[in-house]
Amino acid sequence: MRYISTRGAAPALDFAGAMRAGLARDGGLYLPEAVPVLPGAEIAALAGLDYEEAAWRVIRPFLSEAFGEDEVRGAIAHAYAGFGHAARAPLVQIGANHFLLELFHGPTLAFKDFAMQLIGQLFRLALARTGERITIIGATSGDTGSAAIEAFRGLPGVDVFILFPAGRVSEVQRRQMTTVTEGNVHALALNGDFDDCQARVKDLFNDHAFRDEVGLAAVNSINWARVLAQTVYFVTAAVSLGAPWRAVSFAVPTGNFGDVFAGAVARQMGVPIARLVVATNRNDILHRCLTSGEYRVAGVAPTISPSMDIQVASNFERALWLALGRDGAAVAALMDELRASGGFRLPEDALAVLRETYASGRASEAETRAAIARIHAGTGALICPHTAVGVHVAEGFLGVVPMVTLATAHPAKFPDAVAEATGLRPPLPKRMADLYERPERVTEVENDLSALKTLIRERRAG
Ligand SMILES: *Cc1c(COP(=O)(O)O)cnc(C)c1O
Repeated sequence: MRYISTRGAAPALDFAGAMRAGLARDGGLYLPEAVPVLPGAEIAALAGLDYEEAAWRVIRPFLSEAFGEDEVRGAIAHAYAGFGHAARAPLVQIGANHFLLELFHGPTLAFKDFAMQLIGQLFRLALARTGERITIIGATSGDTGSAAIEAFRGLPGVDVFILFPAGRVSEVQRRQMTTVTEGNVHALALNGDFDDCQARVKDLFNDHAFRDEVGLAAVNSINWARVLAQTVYFVTAAVSLGAPWRAVSFAVPTGNFGDVFAGAVARQMGVPIARLVVATNRNDILHRCLTSGEYRVAGVAPTISPSMDIQVASNFERALWLALGRDGAAVAALMDELRASGGFRLPEDALAVLRETYASGRASEAETRAAIARIHAGTGALICPHTAVGVHVAEGFLGVVPMVTLATAHPAKFPDAVAEATGLRPPLPKRMADLYERPERVTEVENDLSALKTLIRERRAG
């Protein structure tokens, strides 16, 4: 399988190359040249399989020859062995034709574990081949950093540095990053906000000499391997509810558009998905765009669903490329306009194409809290605020087609918001109940590029 850039001006790469590169050199995102279609009989044959077997069958056609079957099966087995639920991604019914897909049984209690755990194992395979030593650097507002740390801790040939804004992540999120004992993990509390963290990471990547010197790699949400890993649970959930014979819809709490785009890949593979509902909080650039055709940046407003507080949804570029008839030059022109003037207007026909796949809605803070309370009153279940945004928006689209809302994080990761809505504080799962007692290890850093480079060089050598 070959991968090409959404901006049409970077070399095509195989799967391992696209995973190693993350972002394409022309600034675009990698996508498969052609999405393989699973025949109906193959989709039907997924029914009743365990998650790992289904994952192998969904991922297989996207891989390059670089990886052998036994290796990839081993990577998948490793990736999901630490999950706290035998089904990995269980479905729970919450209404007449409404289901929750619980994606929070991984080691850091958010859906990002599905992709990050697998990409960690695939990087391990790739590095064993090349003998390369790499440095993973990421900025996080909470969930991505801990998921990356969990996935790469202790892996040979890899150092992981995660920058987070000091004092601005939840205590659970911080402790998940700082209580890891492996020496290749470096949690850095930066004296600044999330935008500063992201800006410093960008600076490091743009310093090409430094980038080559330490073998920088990125595992952020635009990495194709992460999108692909997330495609699996859209397929397994649809099969559980009757695919290929019966269509299903999904409501996806959305920030960077990575998760919902993974659903679009499942749809391209031939899984009968009627609607992919993009659910946003009051940072609603995607909902506004799908409604009006105008993609325009507004300031980020903090919400109780912080993992969805974003300005620009990087992965939306992939959907744009498809909607613009795979025209890389047209995508590049819109992205230039976005950078220069803070927005762009979609051509009418591209908007029509997007609307064939995506619907959308938004939830205010009050609506989010009300959804947490309503689900608790109706079913006894506690849901996290991100999931609640999905539930609120999904309820506007219920009908004869089963609706699956993605439960993207465990309620115990956001206990304050849940307590405010229900009066109940969700406890951490037993396997991590001692998180508040574990010793923390963190390095405080100034918002200063050269100091960061020195620190990374020293830590890698140590
Ligand atoms: C990252 C995240 C999201 C948003 O996912 P995207 O792929 O960025 O759209 C939603 N909920 C939670 C809990 C997250 O961590």
